[in-house]
Amino acid sequence: MKPEQKDRMVKCPVCYQEKKWQGNAYRPFCSERCSLIDLGKWAEGEYKMSENLSEENSETVDDY
Ligand SMILES: [Zn+2]
Repeated sequence: MKPEQKDRMVKCPVCYQEKKWQGNAYRPFCSERCSLIDLGKWAEGEYKMSENLSEENSETVDDY
């Protein structure tokens, strides 16, 4: 028996609750809800970035 192989706990970056790492399908989040919250943040940032890109693209097309 290895004392190191205890249940590993992971802190959810969204709600800061500690949950077991093993058997957690949504790690590093504690639940599906928190993973969706985090994904939503990323999606928002990506959306803004792609909006800027498409603006640049249309400008280039006009120039051409
Ligand atoms: Zn959480």
